[in-house]
Amino acid sequence: MVAVGRGVSRWKPGDRVVSFHHIPCGDCFYCEQKLFSQCPGYKKVGLTAGFDPNGGGFAEYVRAMPWIVERGMLAIPPEVSFEEATFIEPVNTCVKAIQKARVAPGETVVVIGQGPIGLILMMLSKLAGATVFASDPLAERREKSLSLGALAAFDPSWGNWVEEIRRGTSGRGADAVLVAVPLAAVVPEALALARPGGRVLLFAQNDPQMKIEFPAATVGVEEKEILGSYSASVDLQAESAELVFSRRLPVRELVSHRFPLAKIDEALTLAARPAGDSLKVVITP
Ligand SMILES: [Zn+2]
Repeated sequence: MVAVGRGVSRWKPGDRVVSFHHIPCGDCFYCEQKLFSQCPGYKKVGLTAGFDPNGGGFAEYVRAMPWIVERGMLAIPPEVSFEEATFIEPVNTCVKAIQKARVAPGETVVVIGQGPIGLILMMLSKLAGATVFASDPLAERREKSLSLGALAAFDPSWGNWVEEIRRGTSGRGADAVLVAVPLAAVVPEALALARPGGRVLLFAQNDPQMKIEFPAATVGVEEKEILGSYSASVDLQAESAELVFSRRLPVRELVSHRFPLAKIDEALTLAARPAGDSLKVVITP
């Protein structure tokens, strides 16, 4: 094993491994800028259960392409389950988002949406030293958020929560607002929650057809920044794995349902239409 970080090692034959499915080429314009998710090579999926690189991943065995074998696989410590290790990729995307939003100790952060990704963003903001408020229309998710570290969790339909966040921040608003809900209507609210000069990071606004409207002066006069973060960073692999392996991030708390491969249809339907009691849905081949 080759150590790549505290408690994190590259694999050797016989190890249980976790594999990333995207690895950048390492020497294009975007890789030089560390914008790995914009690298043309990165977009090629490198794990497949079929005959071409996009052959899917729900299978007992998958084939890893050479560039993934070389740079995309880490050994899983014996005490860590495969189920926990599956969280390293989503955790990586969230670590990247927290860094892009420049979340700093002592700041106030609001996370909109407390599904599995919103909960990971919430926990990482707290680990970064911020005070975190959260919102979700589902009562079960608000409860989960409070049990995992949010100072308060609001139902956005309560209406006055923007004022409450302002009251809790000397009238200013949050330093950073992380949006983990794929709705255009949430963005003006996120801008209203941010203080002047604060940051709004869009994590879920990936739909090329989506149009977002917001008051221009929030950016042009109040100097609020709108940022985006997409996918994972190869530079954050070791850090993300360490967060999961050490259990500093209690990812097991995010699994609500487990299905065998034979019930994959049921699992995908549940994941596509989350109910109050559903969070991460895991398929175990
Ligand atoms: Zn590249």
